[in-house]
Amino acid sequence: MTVLVYTENREGKFKKATFELLSYAEELAKNINGEVVALSIGNVSSDELNKLGNYGAKKVVSVTDEQFSLLDNKLYIKAIEDVAKKENASILVMADNLSGRALAPGLSAKLKAGLVSGVVAVPSSYEPFVIKKKVFTGKAFADVKVNSEVKVLTLSQNSYGIKDATSDTPQIEEYKPDTSGVESKFKLVSEELVTGKLLLSDAEIVVSGGRGMKSSENWHLLEELAQLLGAATACSRPVSDEGWRPHDEHVGQTGKIIAPTLYIASGISGAIQHVGGISSSKVIVAINKDPDAPIFEVADYGIVGDFQKVLPEFTNAIKEIKGA
Ligand SMILES: Cc1cc2nc3c(=O)[nH]c(=O)nc-3n(C[C@H](O)[C@H](O)[C@H](O)COP(=O)(O)OP(=O)(O)OC[C@H]3O[C@@H](n4cnc5c(N)ncnc54)[C@H](O)[C@@H]3O)c2cc1C
Repeated sequence: MTVLVYTENREGKFKKATFELLSYAEELAKNINGEVVALSIGNVSSDELNKLGNYGAKKVVSVTDEQFSLLDNKLYIKAIEDVAKKENASILVMADNLSGRALAPGLSAKLKAGLVSGVVAVPSSYEPFVIKKKVFTGKAFADVKVNSEVKVLTLSQNSYGIKDATSDTPQIEEYKPDTSGVESKFKLVSEELVTGKLLLSDAEIVVSGGRGMKSSENWHLLEELAQLLGAATACSRPVSDEGWRPHDEHVGQTGKIIAPTLYIASGISGAIQHVGGISSSKVIVAINKDPDAPIFEVADYGIVGDFQKVLPEFTNAIKEIKGA
């Protein structure tokens, strides 16, 4: 039996979430006496493909066909379906991110597979197959029983962690999937980089501000800290509604749902709609002048104080540590 992992890369380098997916798949595979096969789509060097072996992939199916540079979901679904059938996959694992959420429903329909999105643990039982997932944007959990033979799972980021399994070199197979019958309705004519900014969804560290930051003029304090830490910047909804920051930085129930390793929240009260978008962060640090602010209930570290005083001290301390 095979656990197939759909991996994602950016400019030929695997995202960290991929290593977590493989670590998770390795444990699934162990429990069903199966093996982990990774699927890589795009131009990735053999050194980079070999890295997947460190996290449990016994085999890597590498698809480099040019047609996939066009990020057409229909093409991707057909290709992943083809590889899942070829590898006789009983479980398909992908990230619970924008692409995972876009591809998984189509794959579940094609493979006649039960889909569980946002899983947070390995199954509590395999026969019957019962697994825990997040519901209501992380405010609760549900145990779901899946009856289908094939299962599609999207894994919530930071819910399992990364474990080096082996240092084995995986078998690498170049493969051209059958995408016949899929006609792309659009064609990529040109690409242009709009911003060199680190993408919020990819960032390991996020520095975020709320209405307590008072005005957009104070954002330089967050931007300086973010730059030092190699972090992306984010904000609460009122901040983007006020036009202090662009809407693509707004996190929460109606914005982006993120799961960085470190989330620093300054002047954010911690309303449930905001927390829904950040609760999967590994470590949350909150700066707020109100000791009773709800953000402190979810924060791992809290600093009670005025951001005008705390942020410069925070930044200076990081500068000292980094010798910058
Ligand atoms: C349907 C719906 C969906 C929503 N979706 C979202 C969403 O996706 N994301 C989101 O963020 N919100 C969302 N909201 C809004 C949400 O309910 C809150 O109103 C919002 O998150 C509050 O933003 P805030 O914490 O920045 O501001 P406030 O609630 O105004 O909190 C500001 C905080 O800053 C602190 N503060 C003030 N001055 C200082 C200072 N000098 N130094 C340090 N701290 C200070 C205050 O103590 C306070 O805790 C939604 C609301 C609804 C109804």
